[in-house]
Amino acid sequence: MAKGRRGAGPTNSDTDELPKAKLSIANLKKSLRLFGYLGKHKWKFVLGMIFLVGSAGVGLIFPLKSGQMLGYLAEETKDVETVRVELMEIGGVLLGILLLQAAFSFGRVYLFAQVTENILKALRLDTFKRLIQMPMSFFSKSQVAELSSRMATDISVISDAFTINIAELIRQTIVGVGGLVILVMTSGPIAKWFLVIIPPLTIVSILFARKIRKFSKTYQEKIAESNVVVGEALTGISNVKTFTNEDYEINKYDKLANIIREFGLKYGIFRGLFFSFVMVFVFGSVFFILWQMLFALKVDKTLTPEAFGTFMMLSLFVAGSLGGLPEQIASLQRALGATDRVFELIDGTIEDIDLGSTTDAEKTKSGEIEFKNVSFNYPTRPDFVVLKDVSFKAQTGQTVALVGSSGSGKSTIASMISRFYDPINGEIIIDGKNSKEYSLTDLRKKIALVPQDVILFAGTIRDNIAYGRPNATEEEIAEAAKKANAYDFIESFPDKFTTLVGERGIQLSGGQRQRIAIARAVLKNPSILILDEATSSLDSESEHLVQEALEKLMVGRTSIVIAHRLSTIRNADKIVVLQKGVVLETGTHSELMKHEEGLYYKLNRMQFEMA
Ligand code: ADP
Ligand code: MG
Repeated sequence: MAKGRRGAGPTNSDTDELPKAKLSIANLKKSLRLFGYLGKHKWKFVLGMIFLVGSAGVGLIFPLKSGQMLGYLAEETKDVETVRVELMEIGGVLLGILLLQAAFSFGRVYLFAQVTENILKALRLDTFKRLIQMPMSFFSKSQVAELSSRMATDISVISDAFTINIAELIRQTIVGVGGLVILVMTSGPIAKWFLVIIPPLTIVSILFARKIRKFSKTYQEKIAESNVVVGEALTGISNVKTFTNEDYEINKYDKLANIIREFGLKYGIFRGLFFSFVMVFVFGSVFFILWQMLFALKVDKTLTPEAFGTFMMLSLFVAGSLGGLPEQIASLQRALGATDRVFELIDGTIEDIDLGSTTDAEKTKSGEIEFKNVSFNYPTRPDFVVLKDVSFKAQTGQTVALVGSSGSGKSTIASMISRFYDPINGEIIIDGKNSKEYSLTDLRKKIALVPQDVILFAGTIRDNIAYGRPNATEEEIAEAAKKANAYDFIESFPDKFTTLVGERGIQLSGGQRQRIAIARAVLKNPSILILDEATSSLDSESEHLVQEALEKLMVGRTSIVIAHRLSTIRNADKIVVLQKGVVLETGTHSELMKHEEGLYYKLNRMQFEMA
């Protein structure tokens, strides 16, 4: 399946392709850690196991007794009355076994469900807890969508292992091996054929199954690939149409469809071979043994009718159980691999975040920022210098603008203030202290960021604003909306503050979303405000509204403003001009405009000419 395209959650083909781990002691030991999540529920697992072994053991009596019953078909020596009494007896035993089985099975399933749900709940919460506290560098490395769907798949594989696979493995082993032992002991001469036939048949079947699974996986992958083409063409349908590329897309799809067809044909031949194999060898063996049995019963008289029946029933049970074993083992191996990956995530290094911290940053005013010779590169691209020796200072309450062409490092500087990343060299001083000396929670409580692409959470407008301070009152939320010039448009909606914004906020316009993000920042009331191109995607009317809201918000705070339109930052206390991660010039608008050779002058003139 194509990478990053499995939003739909775990499916069978998803779990099938998960890598399997070796069934080694070391790997099993690692998985024992799962039981650590059980705590006081451990006894439930033990009791469940006892029920399981009990029900499997009792289950073995079932083919024995029902086989005995079947034996009466060929019974000719006993009189009718004896047969009647004996049949009644066997019927009673069978009924008793069934009831016992029912009780054991219910107990086992119920207890295992308790065990599984307790483990999974803790595991789900733990992985999410760790995931959400991972540093930004982790998210820039991993594809987040893929990661979360992978987690879902892994956890469902572990869940299957506990609810189905472990129990089935044990049950099938007991019934399969126990049944085989009884078979060999009770009817040696024919059972020896089992020992001759089963091993080679099993090996060939496993090989076939493996090959078929590989085929089917590749087949699924190829179909997924072709679905990507369909998906992309349909989501980008306006692109396809404006470029009149229908023909191009059809050709692309046709090629993939052809590949699928050819592969499917090969796969078909293979499946045909498998069916022939099953017909000849598997059914062949069944009939061969039946044939041998009838000979033993009717011609050689080495088999009693009772033994005949027992043999029949037992061999059905044994075959069913042994046949299922490889699949259970494979599933458990996948579960081991999944456990390993889940714990890898849980053991990963997280940021030092103080969950449940309640100190309000409002009280700790000030907000001085100083970059001292900061150099930086992203961990994913160690050879590419993003910031080189960057120094500047923003005094409390000042507005400092960062200017420079796209890719010059402005957003990187913004994210470093919140310590999404730390400098490789140099230091960032906030209110007189190296930013590393603050707890991340305290530091980030001082700061609010209004980005260019505001992503809202699916929910109401009220909840989205309250995200800035979840314990805010309704009046405070309304007040924040007013300050952000958002109140009027919110009130104009029929549902007002309870209007749903849709996934990622798509039911609002860009300017409306931006003003909600500003209201959020107002509510947070930070001492440091970072505006990263907060108005660049707006039309002039909404830009005016947003700009006005921003100016109100900036009063009394230290603000770092990254602006696309230079006219909006003319009044900044300081303008830092960046080029390829290096500070070229620093000064106020009028100071910088004096240098006609300078970059700032050039950028201004270019914008002026364009306007
Ligand atoms: P600006 O905001 O000035 O347009 P950025 O700070 O976003 O520029 O980017 C500066 C440089 O860092 C660019 O060359 C960009 O490609 C690179 N960059 C940005 N984010 C990442 C990241 N997460 N991983 C690696 N490189 C990045
Ligand atoms: Mg940027």
